[in-house]
This record gives sequence, structure tokens and C-alpha cells, in this order.
Amino acid sequence: MEFTEKRKTLFMSSFTIYMYYAGESDSLNFSRQGTKYLFRELAERGSPHYLHTMNIKYLLNHSVIILSLVILVYGQDSNLVQNLEQQLQHQGLVNIHTLTPDILVDLKYSSTDNFLGADTYGDLENCYLQPKAAAMLDEAQKFLKRIHPELTLLVYDGARPRSVQRKMWALVAGTPSQGYVANPDRGSVHNFGSAVDLTLATNAGAPLDMGTAFDYFGKLAQPRHEERFLKEGKLTSGQIKNRDLLRQVMTHAGFQSISIEWWHFNAVPVKVARSKYPIIE
Ligand SMILES: [Zn+2]
Repeated sequence: MEFTEKRKTLFMSSFTIYMYYAGESDSLNFSRQGTKYLFRELAERGSPHYLHTMNIKYLLNHSVIILSLVILVYGQDSNLVQNLEQQLQHQGLVNIHTLTPDILVDLKYSSTDNFLGADTYGDLENCYLQPKAAAMLDEAQKFLKRIHPELTLLVYDGARPRSVQRKMWALVAGTPSQGYVANPDRGSVHNFGSAVDLTLATNAGAPLDMGTAFDYFGKLAQPRHEERFLKEGKLTSGQIKNRDLLRQVMTHAGFQSISIEWWHFNAVPVKVARSKYPIIE
């Protein structure tokens, strides 16, 4: 289990609470002061009987606190993941690997390698979609394998729970990136489990050159400007060929591309997603 920044913070907060109970909350030098406090108590009040009683009392009090901390620190994230993953499953979503074992998944929002610079998925690493979208993605991968066996789809994002959307919304509030995150109250097609962000990669996992990185929020990433950028020499014919192949594969399976992000595809139109599916919580 990765020892994340969140756990470190959690651990330090828990440690502070522990030291508060140990009686030294007003000092920054917790361990030294805490130990001194314990010895002073023992020296001042220490009849053998009292020592015995107090040790047991301390042990009992502290073991409850320590046990709680261990559960808090090491249990929290795995519980969250389990809950998030269980929630997705309970809402009828499909782990795309169960349908398409050879598809590559690298959830960008489950790392800090994204435009937010924050991991909003925690330890969730599996990509989920509505069954219809998952079946379409399976068809896209099979079609790609028929025409280019040396390539694979590499998925960056799929169904996105509204709880994650809220975290993203809070992170971009008041920043220039605010326009790139859908309001969680209304939700994006990702929040209905019917959109997928992806690219093409070699079977070894190396992404093909698409002219920009995933989540590059400039015009260079917008398919509607490709012809112009090709003429201006800002995109190469090879990069556009790669984008065309991705679109060919995805539209073959029934997905719709959008004009502002080369990596985003909808399994159903926005209106249909809103009317047909509940928002994923
Ligand atoms: Zn997307």
C-alpha cells in the first residue's frame, strides 16, 4: 500500500490527538515532553500499587487510542477505494477489464499526472462504464486489433462518480481551469458512465503521438482546428493520421467524437445519457 501524502497528514493529525491525550498538546516536541510527563507522573504519585493501576489504565486508554489510529491511518484509504469500487458496481457499472482483458488502463485522475496536479480517485485503478458503453469499447478494441494488431486502446478515464467531480470542481474553483470542469450539480457524460477518454498505444504501452498531451486545454488539442494547424505546420500529418485512426476505431463501434478534445468520446449523446441513466454517485 502506497504511503500517500494524505495518509501522512492523517497520521500526523492522529499523532497530535494521541499526544493531546497523553497530556502534552501545548508542546511541539511531543515525544520528549510526553515521555517526561509520564515519568513525572510516575515519580510524583508512584506507590507500587498506584504505578501498577496507572500503567494498566494508561495501557488500556492508549491501546484503544493506538488501535483506533491504526484503523484510521491504514484502513481509511482502502475502505474508501472499496466503497468507491463497490458503489460503481452496485450502480450497475462494468469494470472494462472483465470484458476486454487486453485493453490498457491508466486512470490519469488516479495519479497526479493531470491538469489538476491532484489524485482525486485515490487508489481506484479500474475503469468502469455503463454496460452499453463497455460493450462498445470492447468492439472498438476488437476492431483495432483486426486492422492494427500491433496497437491497443489506452484508457485514461471512464465513469466518474459525482463525489470525484465535486473534488475536481473544488480544486479549480476561481482558477483559469474552472471552465474545463463540469459543474457536479449537472454532471458531464463521464458522470453518467457513458464517456471515455483514451488514446492509441503500442502493445508495450507507449502512447502514439497525437500532437498534444491528454488534457492539454489549448486549440492544438481541438479536432475542429486540425486542418489549419496542419497547414501552419503546428501538427504533422502523422499526428493527424493517429487521431484519425483513433476516431475511425471509436466511431466504428458507435462512439461520437467531439470537436474540442481529441481524446474524448461519448457512447450516447449528452441528452440521451441524462434521460436514460442516473448520475453516478
Ligand atoms: Zn472526457
